[in-house]
Amino acid sequence: MSASVRVRFAPSPTGPLHMGGVRTALFNYLYAKKHNGTFILRVEDTDQARFVEGAEAYIEESLKWCGFEPDEGTKAGGNHGPYRQSERSELYLKELNQLMATGHAYKAFDTAEEIAAKRTEAEANGDVWQYDAKTRLSMRNSLALSAAEVAQLESEGHPFTVRFKMPESGREVKVSDEIRGEIRVSSSVLDDKVLMKADGLPTYHLANVVDDHHMEISHVIRGEEWLPSAPLHVLLYEAFGWNPPAFAHLPLILKPTGNGKLSKRDGDKGGFPIFPLAWTDPKSSQTSNGYRENGYLPEAFLNMLLLLGWSSGDERELFSLEEAVEAFSMENVTKSGARFNPDKAVWFNEQYLRSGDSSRWIEPLKERNAEAMQGWSGTKCQQVLDMMLERVQFLHEIGAHSYLFAAPDRFDEKLIRKKWKPETAGYLRDLKDVLAAVEPFESDNIETHFKQFLATRELGFGAVLLPFRIALTGTGGGPSMFDFAEFLGKNQTLDRLESAVAKLG
Ligand code: GLU
Repeated sequence: MSASVRVRFAPSPTGPLHMGGVRTALFNYLYAKKHNGTFILRVEDTDQARFVEGAEAYIEESLKWCGFEPDEGTKAGGNHGPYRQSERSELYLKELNQLMATGHAYKAFDTAEEIAAKRTEAEANGDVWQYDAKTRLSMRNSLALSAAEVAQLESEGHPFTVRFKMPESGREVKVSDEIRGEIRVSSSVLDDKVLMKADGLPTYHLANVVDDHHMEISHVIRGEEWLPSAPLHVLLYEAFGWNPPAFAHLPLILKPTGNGKLSKRDGDKGGFPIFPLAWTDPKSSQTSNGYRENGYLPEAFLNMLLLLGWSSGDERELFSLEEAVEAFSMENVTKSGARFNPDKAVWFNEQYLRSGDSSRWIEPLKERNAEAMQGWSGTKCQQVLDMMLERVQFLHEIGAHSYLFAAPDRFDEKLIRKKWKPETAGYLRDLKDVLAAVEPFESDNIETHFKQFLATRELGFGAVLLPFRIALTGTGGGPSMFDFAEFLGKNQTLDRLESAVAKLG
């Protein structure tokens, strides 16, 4: 293709962005970057009734957190603006008038009640009613009424909608989809969709098609839920006399059970986030969890989303954003729904937490535990990371291991009952004397002396190591005790041993 790739992410600001929306944005971004194209953010805010305060800012912030900010858009600007549909009304009106002038659209004066009555009447006969080529001439519209009647209704101020005149006689509409191949639909099953509402605002279909054309969008990449609209869109392009963009409809993201579309309720039930960032509903003041606030790294979140509907074709699962750009292709996007697995999201977080240079976590760790780690050197923080990163799934979990910051003031009672024998205190006292002589006080050296101590006293590992751990940490799990003793330093280690023996006897 000669023309440049221009794709858009076109969310409606009706609430927080669902993770499926972020996946759509991601695939648009990847496709754009792969082809040296342009990634555009267009805000589709024509539905005043569903507009939610703060949603647009939320969308912008989510994309920023993910690390793929738009090249053109509401904030970034660009040559094809404005990028908010509420600021483009004139354009829609102009194009709509064009469609009416060429006979592809018409004014309809039917009230909601009149239409509902038609539906009820049809249902009573076991039929389904729709506003289409078969029924339109029995309705109150500019096709059925005379020009004088229409002029009269208008001068009396009767509100009207503008509808698309679906081609009659069962035209075969072809949608060619980059993921699904060619889809054919007969126009006789399609209804005369409303293009402009009675309030004078365009519907999604009109604004979307007009904008995609005027913004020179080359590829429409969006969720599968929009596939049923695609034939209408193709016909709209035709009616306008414009070339349609290429289409790619991404597979649905399914519930962890695989049954049905993933919804906010699944997140509430399963205890996992559905939104990239936490969101407080302005009406109900209810807050929903966000991946960011729950401690996920954006890299992990994106990698998880990448594999919801796309695969590299081999076993590889870990991709940085740049690597994903390199590897991405529409051919490897699946047709069938992608099942979301919350455990896999956690797994990705672990992978990103542990990979790469761990010193990048020093500052975040200190920030999260500002009080407990006040005055800590970089080396000391690094030691904590070296010991703990393998043992946690989220960075914030490190802070819960209180023995890292202070001597234990409580000891796991159940463990004590099971593992603390009458002779234990004596062993630890002797161990303390052994450790007092260890120089340098480093992990390997501590381990060697510990083992020598066991050998000379003919003691099993279990008889001393677990009590040693309990004495130093208060609990039964955690990092290697030799690493941990080195981290504490000799004085702290001996002090903790001393005070545990004094307390536990
Ligand atoms: N405004 C639509 C949405 O909220 C856009 C659909 C499309 O990409 O055409 O998803």
